[in-house]
Amino acid sequence: TISMAVIDNKGRIAAGTSTNGASHKIPGRVGDGAIAGASAYADDDVGACGATGDGDVMMRFLPCYQAVESMRQGMTPAEAAKDAIDRIRRKFPTFIGAVFAIDKYGIHAGACHGWVFQYTVQDANMADAVVFTVKPDIF
Ligand code: ASP
Repeated sequence: TISMAVIDNKGRIAAGTSTNGASHKIPGRVGDGAIAGASAYADDDVGACGATGDGDVMMRFLPCYQAVESMRQGMTPAEAAKDAIDRIRRKFPTFIGAVFAIDKYGIHAGACHGWVFQYTVQDANMADAVVFTVKPDIF
């Protein structure tokens, strides 16, 4: 899965995701990529979130919608990302997945469960993209 969020120079925010399926595309599977809020969500007023992992679990929790709404309510991106993963982990302890969250100011963070997650950030002032590595709290 590739999930991405962008903020343009007018402050407009978009997010999207593409996936070939959790482990091979099963004919007829909708997957999380097509469910708004499951693996991507954005709101110009708040920020954005992208996700990767077990989409059939994630689509029941809409972690990206959750993370953006949590930031709207005052959580930092780090708190919102962790909370979105925790909500899934509590019900599905073997869940494997991750989210990144970014607010409208460009503050970003990631959270993951079951694996080490990496995401990449670049802004207009950076010559190159920088890779961030997020370790899970609990395996
Ligand atoms: N979320 C994707 C899916 O379940 C898989 C992935 O993130 O790699 O189809």
